[in-house]
Amino acid sequence: MEKVLSVTMEIGTLSGVVIDSFQFGFDTLTTGERLLGESNLIIRTPDAVCRCSDCGHVMMSSGIRTEQCPLCRNRLLIPESGDDLVLRQVEME
Ligand SMILES: [Zn+2]
Repeated sequence: MEKVLSVTMEIGTLSGVVIDSFQFGFDTLTTGERLLGESNLIIRTPDAVCRCSDCGHVMMSSGIRTEQCPLCRNRLLIPESGDDLVLRQVEME
């Protein structure tokens, strides 16, 4: 019988998703479920990347949103990535 062993998600730090809640929801929904009941949820949280709208400086921000460009002090930073919710891999048996 086919079973899912693991599900790998990538959840950006700017996505607004609370990891613990996501994990709890996954566990709740999959408990006792034939296909997913014994699967592991693996969550990766890649760092967000922001670009300064003024000088173009690109910076990583882990966790909270970077507030200010370290080079020109501009406060308008454009998120390049980090707000994604991606199903990266499903491993089956
Ligand atoms: Zn800048």
